[in-house]
Amino acid sequence: EFALSIVKRMNELCKQWSAVEGYHYSVYSTPAESLTDRFNRMDKEKYGVIEGVTDHDFYTNSFHYPVWLQPTPMEKLTFEKDFPYYASGGFINYCEYPCLQDNPKALEAVWDYAYNIGIGYLGTNTPIDHCFVCGFQGDFEPTDEGFKCPECGNSDPDKCNVTKRTCGYLGNPVQRPMVHGRHEEISHRVKHMSGETGRVTLADGETREWFEETR
Ligand SMILES: [Zn+2]
Repeated sequence: EFALSIVKRMNELCKQWSAVEGYHYSVYSTPAESLTDRFNRMDKEKYGVIEGVTDHDFYTNSFHYPVWLQPTPMEKLTFEKDFPYYASGGFINYCEYPCLQDNPKALEAVWDYAYNIGIGYLGTNTPIDHCFVCGFQGDFEPTDEGFKCPECGNSDPDKCNVTKRTCGYLGNPVQRPMVHGRHEEISHRVKHMSGETGRVTLADGETREWFEETR
């Protein structure tokens, strides 16, 4: 309720400014790529380390559920659903999933739920990273500065394709490294669903499967 009251207030100010100045103002809920790092750094300098607020090297984007906590997709979307009404300048909701190649129904269940509660713009973050050295497809692991193949350790930008949701859009952090705070934010993201299911045939003919949690 408190967080919502802040966004409502920002929305009211936009209406006031629009009436006075004749320009259209609106709240934009997906901030710039590097602001996650910069604002946290500035606040830490000014207010010190505050538990649950400035104690990471980043801020979570806009009205999103803190990335290091682990709600279910439905809990996350229920928490976030009322904010976009006050953010006509732009917004996105998204959930983080494990590899669900063999369980697309799990994704459909979330999409149906999101549609029914009025989510206007939903992103689905599911691992599609690809290593051209060993053939691995799935989720590359975060390292101190970038991402590497969990199977063979490859992190050569010319020999892999890594796709992560930067903020609203999808980016390739291996080709174009991110600021420290953004990398930390992505590294801290927790999957909102367990039960990874998938299989891939590696370049050497080995087959790799993930069904541990669902067995
Ligand atoms: Zn590899």
